[in-house]
Amino acid sequence: MASAAPAQEAMLAVRNPRTGQADYRLAVSSAEDVTAKAARLREGQQRWAALPLEARCGVMARWLGEVKARAAEIGEADAVDTGGCHTSYLQGFITLANIGGWLEDAPKALAAYRVNGTSAVMPTVEVRSELVPYALVGVISPWNAPLMLALLDAVPALFAGSAVLLKPSEVTPRVIEALFETVRAVPELAAVFDYVSGGGEVGQQVIGQADLICFTGSVPTGRKVAVACAERLIPCFLELGGKDPAIVTETVDLERAATAVLRGAVYATGQVCYSTERVYVHRSVHDAFVAKLVEKARAVRLNAENPRAGHIGPFTFAPQAEIVRRHLADAVAKGAQVLTGGEVEEIGGGLYMRPTVLTGVTHAMEIMREETFGPCIPVMAYADTDEAVRLANDTQFGLTASVLAGSEEGALAIGRRINAGAVFLQDTFLTFGKMRTIGTHSFGFSGLGGSRTGPESILRFVRRKALMTQHGPVADIQDDHHLGQKPAGPAA
Ligand code: NDP
Repeated sequence: MASAAPAQEAMLAVRNPRTGQADYRLAVSSAEDVTAKAARLREGQQRWAALPLEARCGVMARWLGEVKARAAEIGEADAVDTGGCHTSYLQGFITLANIGGWLEDAPKALAAYRVNGTSAVMPTVEVRSELVPYALVGVISPWNAPLMLALLDAVPALFAGSAVLLKPSEVTPRVIEALFETVRAVPELAAVFDYVSGGGEVGQQVIGQADLICFTGSVPTGRKVAVACAERLIPCFLELGGKDPAIVTETVDLERAATAVLRGAVYATGQVCYSTERVYVHRSVHDAFVAKLVEKARAVRLNAENPRAGHIGPFTFAPQAEIVRRHLADAVAKGAQVLTGGEVEEIGGGLYMRPTVLTGVTHAMEIMREETFGPCIPVMAYADTDEAVRLANDTQFGLTASVLAGSEEGALAIGRRINAGAVFLQDTFLTFGKMRTIGTHSFGFSGLGGSRTGPESILRFVRRKALMTQHGPVADIQDDHHLGQKPAGPAA
């Protein structure tokens, strides 16, 4: 009898955002691959978690060395994936900062979480704690900033003693393979860190195997992930979209405000979760601000000729251009004016859009309510601070916000009233400022679960277990029923 032909591996053709050509093929992981990798990682995790933290740090330091040696290659691969976003070229170094930062922060954060001492209510009981990592952490990451967002959760999870199974976006797979060359060079790490490839179905298979999920992506997918995690009763941490507002007051330095808003809105072609997506300007300075913004927007150059030159690149994910086009068409149909940009341009197969400033917008338009994720800057006038705050808070999201005012105190007073996990005062785009400093929580649909920033974010990956020793006599069952009752005293 003839033996059965080996099953054909499913392959995905991956589009290059600069040429529009499918020039990379990705083997899709089968359900069996995902199960086998999860089992292998679980086995490796037992040895990994049993290592003292200093020994795990030693392994991670060796990995740091490997990343350092290949930082430039990693940056190049990320740039091919994104189409030449400026931060792509820095990804090798950003990864070094991520690992290096946790080499400093992990020992302190984990030590501070341990409790050893005497029970406050039972003085003869000694309490000690142990931190037990979740064995297998699943990380599901998006196509924007593909390496950074794959590693933001994975790196602290590894320091905590978990194994990590990563499911990166199928849209941007090249950088992940470049990264794993560095992982394979450190066998102890390769035993606890691996990835699988494919789309949403592979993401669901990872959820089926993991003990905890970290997801970064859109609200609709985040909801599916949350439901699947709820079915399995495993914790999930969701980092979702944003519709981040900027408020520009009447006393502001207009030059500074226009510079900050432009960068916040169009950096990386607006494909950043904390991009400025809507701008509210006091009506007394609205026209002057818009004039400056348009002038600056027109000076922004595309990087179509050379990915290292110019300011913004193509859309990384072609369907995103359609979403942006739809938001613009909806806004124009409802009365908005496009002052500059506004067209998706095909250049050499890549899809580009120049910074697009719109006025005459209202909250009835998709461009003011839904995440656009493109280089669009809709500007709306407001009459007083209460109205500005009301408009900024009129959203289902709450990731970040910006306030640009005539004084730092003025910006602070407004910033305190905005519902967002981080508010940037007198600038935009300050997210990196909190990375190692402070953990914050998003509002609305922008996020769910503990923070992914700040040293305490590592605590998401451990459970604190109490070991309690009775040093005194054990309670007699006969005495137990007195517990909780007031001792009998003399009658008043
Ligand atoms: P998606 O939600 O489309 O995808 C995110 C990841 O989930 C991808 O790996 C995707 O796979 C995978 N996935 C798709 N369907 C499922 C499913 N049913 N179950 C499990 N996994 C699934 O997001 P995008 O990739 O489009 O990323 C852009 C979004 O990410 C934006 O909304 C942005 O705001 C948000 N984001 C949030 C950040 C934050 O920190 N809050 C940071 C950066 C981005 P595949 O792509 O292969 O289909």
